[in-house]
Amino acid sequence: MRLSRQRRMVLDLLWSEASHMSARDIFEKLNARGRSIGHTSVYQNLEALQSAGVIECLDRANGRLYGYRSDPHSHLTCLDSGRIEDIDVKLPADLLERIETVTGYRIESYTLQLNGRRSGN
Ligand SMILES: [Zn+2]
Repeated sequence: MRLSRQRRMVLDLLWSEASHMSARDIFEKLNARGRSIGHTSVYQNLEALQSAGVIECLDRANGRLYGYRSDPHSHLTCLDSGRIEDIDVKLPADLLERIETVTGYRIESYTLQLNGRRSGN
C-alpha cells in the first residue's frame, strides 16, 4: 500500500508506542508532538491501515483501539488500568489436537484474551 505522509505519521506513532490506542489518543499524541493532523484524517488513515491488514483493530466496549501488530497474538488486559498488552502464547499441541477432535476443525491460528491484575500490588 502507498504510504502518504500522514499515514506514515500515524504508523510511526503506533510503532513507537507499541500499545493499543484509540483514534483520539493518537490524534492527541501526534498534535502534542507538533504534527498537525485533523481528527478525521487520523481516523481515516487508521481505517485504511486496518483494512490493508497493516495494523490490528480491537472493538472494545468503550470504543475501537488500534495496535501496531497484525500477526496473530494474544492480549492480556489489566483489570485495574485497562491497559492491553500484546503477548505471545503457544498452546500445547495436545490441547490443539483435542480441540480439533471435538470441533472437527483444523486450527490455523488463535488469539487468547486474558484478564488479570499485577501481583504484589
Ligand atoms: Zn494487540
